[in-house]
Amino acid sequence: MDLSKKFWEADLSDIRRGYYIDVQKQTQSLSQVPALASALASAKSYVCLICGAVFEKGIIYPMEGVLYEAERAVQAHIAAEHGSLFEYLLGVAASSGGITELQSELLRQFHQGTDDAEIAKLLGQGSTSTVRNHRFKLREKEKQAKVYLALMSLVGKQEGADALVGVHRGAKMVDERYVFTEKEKEQIIHKYFEDNGQGPL
Ligand SMILES: [Zn+2]
Repeated sequence: MDLSKKFWEADLSDIRRGYYIDVQKQTQSLSQVPALASALASAKSYVCLICGAVFEKGIIYPMEGVLYEAERAVQAHIAAEHGSLFEYLLGVAASSGGITELQSELLRQFHQGTDDAEIAKLLGQGSTSTVRNHRFKLREKEKQAKVYLALMSLVGKQEGADALVGVHRGAKMVDERYVFTEKEKEQIIHKYFEDNGQGPL
């Protein structure tokens, strides 16, 4: 499944609803009119995470004989064009190898509210205690995923301030001279070069 960069950058809450709010995207023609530009200063767009379709706040979208405002329009668009978001995400999880076929089917049944006895029968999974055991394992997986997500977001933050500076391409020898952070690099550039390294030497 070829998903956009935006999908993977999106917050968990955005992925759950299938769209994100973009505060920058505005209709070019509208923002060129000064009176409208200020009115649109806080203009938002709702962008489908699956296909990138954009719905601008302040515009009414007709769909199947109904007029929708932007946020309702992106929701209607997802339902009409992409079907169930749950099924879509299940497909993403399965194709990325995140879950097994059995886990995928269990999640589908849990989502539909099927009771354990029925699930056991449907999947040939023996007794209800086997199904309960699967549920427990999936919960454990959820906890692991949460901690992993938190760890990765902390690593991401680190990259901004104190990330180690990459070794430049022509480097022949890589040693501790290269172990300095982005912050230190900035200080060095500031100290030795005028105009933050942009000016002439
Ligand atoms: Zn879409």
